[in-house]
Amino acid sequence: MKKGIAILGSTGSIGKQTLEVVSIFPSSLTVVALAAKDEVDLIVEQIKKFSPKIVSVATAEVKQQVEAKLGASKVQIMVGEEGLLKVATEPTAKMVVVAIPGSLCLVPTLEAVKSKKDLALATKEVLVVAGDLFMQEVKAAGVKVFPIDSEHSAIVQCLKGEDPKTIKKIVLTASGGPFLKTPIEKFAQMTAKDALKHPTWKMGPKITIDSSTLMNKGFEVMEAHYLFGLDYSKIEVLVHPQSIIHSMVEFVDGSVKAQLGAADMRVPIQYALLEEKRSANHWPSLNFAKLTQMTFQEPDKQKFPCLQYAYDAGKVGGTLPAVLNAANEAAIKLFLRGKLNFAQLPQRINEIMTRHQNKKTPTLADILEADNWARAEVN
Ligand code: MG
Repeated sequence: MKKGIAILGSTGSIGKQTLEVVSIFPSSLTVVALAAKDEVDLIVEQIKKFSPKIVSVATAEVKQQVEAKLGASKVQIMVGEEGLLKVATEPTAKMVVVAIPGSLCLVPTLEAVKSKKDLALATKEVLVVAGDLFMQEVKAAGVKVFPIDSEHSAIVQCLKGEDPKTIKKIVLTASGGPFLKTPIEKFAQMTAKDALKHPTWKMGPKITIDSSTLMNKGFEVMEAHYLFGLDYSKIEVLVHPQSIIHSMVEFVDGSVKAQLGAADMRVPIQYALLEEKRSANHWPSLNFAKLTQMTFQEPDKQKFPCLQYAYDAGKVGGTLPAVLNAANEAAIKLFLRGKLNFAQLPQRINEIMTRHQNKKTPTLADILEADNWARAEVN
């Protein structure tokens, strides 16, 4: 039987690549629900190609435009938060792909878990903002979470057949982003246009900016903490500009396992959608003879303080991680509009974190309140 897939964020970078993966496994995967924002032409194209039962878009205006272009169709189109919830809990979906950047999809993702959907999780902000709560719900519902993140997919693969108790540490590799070699003195002149040029990975704008500040890697540290149940002292970050090794695990006997491959998100997406089963595809493979070198260096936390902010917020816990995330999202919006320069971006996040009064064991309402507070403070 085909597995029904619902996608939150179908027109984004991960969403589009997810649909590409679904297309090459038509006998095992089928799209039953899609949620997107406002790219009308692409939404119409996706509906025609994949015939989902239900689609959600951002607003009533977008819905009207989609319906006008679509003509006669059986698809049910919904809008806003209600639409997101419907897509996340669509009865015929067995797995929900969560790929809307930021904390917007926190509530629909929690609802998907409560409705016993397995998750293919690209939106690491869900774990960053509400990791404890989310993992409790996952455990209670007995659902599986498959990471759509190259590093965590690598760790999952390295841990196959291993006893988690024998992990000495995991090493998350980082490309270092576009400013790896830029002197810190020049950061004040760096704009969004410079930050959007990622050296190795093709990704959406939010995560590309997060990669330039190393906040993305900080979030990945938190993601790994929750997914693999590891203490922060056992999670390290190593800059590896070629992005060939996607991450590594060192075991107590000194042995190290690494997962390598081309920098292509379709590989971890496929691994998640097929629930860690291997299947042939036609993506380009890694040519070792053409690799000139693999280099490694420690991340520079002076230049990229966001990495440390994430470790700090993760260790403190409570509502501080939600504040870190919301302040980051809001500050990135200002950065993209040219209202903050690259040097000011982490400073603004740090100011808000410092001012926050942390709540130690937060409810979902506390987390959402902290999220709102931080956004308002940034603006
Ligand atoms: Mg990643």
